[in-house]
Amino acid sequence: MLVDSHCHLNFPELSGRIDDALALMRDNRVTHALCVSVTLQDFPQVRALAERYPHIYASVGVHPDYPDVPVVSEEELIDLAGHPKIVAIGETGLDYFRIKEDCEWQRERFRTHIRAARRSRKPLIIHTRAAAADTLRIMREERAGDVGGVMHCFTESWAVAQGAMDLGFYISFSGIVTFKNAVELKDVARRVPLERMLIETDAPYLAPVPFRGKTNEPGLVKYVAEEIARLRGMSLDEVGAATSRNFFKLFLAGKG
Ligand SMILES: [Zn+2]
Ligand SMILES: [Zn+2]
Repeated sequence: MLVDSHCHLNFPELSGRIDDALALMRDNRVTHALCVSVTLQDFPQVRALAERYPHIYASVGVHPDYPDVPVVSEEELIDLAGHPKIVAIGETGLDYFRIKEDCEWQRERFRTHIRAARRSRKPLIIHTRAAAADTLRIMREERAGDVGGVMHCFTESWAVAQGAMDLGFYISFSGIVTFKNAVELKDVARRVPLERMLIETDAPYLAPVPFRGKTNEPGLVKYVAEEIARLRGMSLDEVGAATSRNFFKLFLAGKG
């Protein structure tokens, strides 16, 4: 059994062929997926998917790569997170790779999400790119460790992984870990304790080898798990069982 802890089923590449995506999940024994919100404008579609399909969960948040959307408040996030299928706040975080100008608004938006997560007692889904030091600093300053969460699509160093795990966060690996040139990341995937690890697709992006460059979908998380199993000398079932257990512990503790 496998769980895709992070995908965007509502994005146009996938929204027109949900039935096919769900069928591939079934074929590859991917039992659940978490569909992650990137703006409040797209949130109703994300929530609708979670309402329609029992094995799809959802989050609420405004991604750091969207500079031109309205400022989001803690109250709005807390209100939308009150829904029973909304299991996390995010994705949120910092991305200095795509947005080059002054990023104070990103940091403010990130702080708002952490505060909302703490008040609503929901874990955080954190995106960080070219901004690891600031990301960890703000997580510490805002006491993100009170609720924990996941560093999604992890591509940082072992030191950054350790910093996040010290705050109680999980480390989630995407299809990038299957790329031949991801040497340092493969090493991190060998070292992260199994009980702190999640797997994801970030579909429709970042399809794993041997589908690199194609449209990704949740069923392909199997290839991420297979690569981690290979790197660690374990079976696919062991990696699947551990990462699925972690998913339910983090996002659905006390909800079966
Ligand atoms: Zn992301
Ligand atoms: Zn994402």
